[in-house]
Amino acid sequence: MSVEIAENLARVRSRIEAACVRAGRDPGSVRLLPVTKTLPPERVREAYAAGLDCFGENKVQEARGKSEALADLPVRWSVIGHLQTNKVKYLTRFAKEFQALDSLRVAEALDRRLQAAGQSLDVFVQVNTSREESKFGLPPEEVIAFAKALPAFTALRVRGLMTLAIFSEDDIRVRQCFRDLRAIQQRLLQDGDAAQDWHGLSMGMSGDYEIAVEESATVVRVGQAIFGPRPFPNAYYWPGAQ
Ligand SMILES: *Cc1c(COP(=O)(O)O)cnc(C)c1O
Repeated sequence: MSVEIAENLARVRSRIEAACVRAGRDPGSVRLLPVTKTLPPERVREAYAAGLDCFGENKVQEARGKSEALADLPVRWSVIGHLQTNKVKYLTRFAKEFQALDSLRVAEALDRRLQAAGQSLDVFVQVNTSREESKFGLPPEEVIAFAKALPAFTALRVRGLMTLAIFSEDDIRVRQCFRDLRAIQQRLLQDGDAAQDWHGLSMGMSGDYEIAVEESATVVRVGQAIFGPRPFPNAYYWPGAQ
């Protein structure tokens, strides 16, 4: 077993707990989603040996390759990056969760595939709280209308909202992105369709997960703080970047 992964994991978990204590939250209310993008399947196997069995990947083809290489392990895969309609068919074969839903076209394409296969999928709606051009996600003001259209897609199980905070050294601006996501969630919980579950807030990465937990994250997506630094900054790996 990888000592490095185990040690990093222990540190991340204790920081999540400390952030929960500061915010008066139950540490059991935060799910740690380890992000394994760019890591080879052998590293993911080490992570599994360290006790992890849910992994987040931002590119569907890379994720599918790993899911096949690790088909012998009972692993739950979550796709956390933007998806093109023509790649929907790859996702539904292995993923149990999709955290970057931001268009009705993709919702429709997913729903059609899932219905045909008799499957369902947990989804989070991605919101571009920082309004940076480089980021995917719905503009905050479009989320309510988008949510109203989702019940038509009965194979999609709505679980909440997802965001990437602004890239900034300024914690106040980062925190504001998380607060904005929570404010949208509160509106959905009040006015939304009672059959939809908007309780999930997927927010926070290696650099800002403690702030996210203080601001009510229920899922934090953490890669580098567990597996070590990647060679390029995060935006390099996002679909459509480069
Ligand atoms: C890569 C990635 C993360 C994790 O980033 P780290 O810096 O490795 O913690 C979280 N969310 C998304 C959407 C990502 O692409």
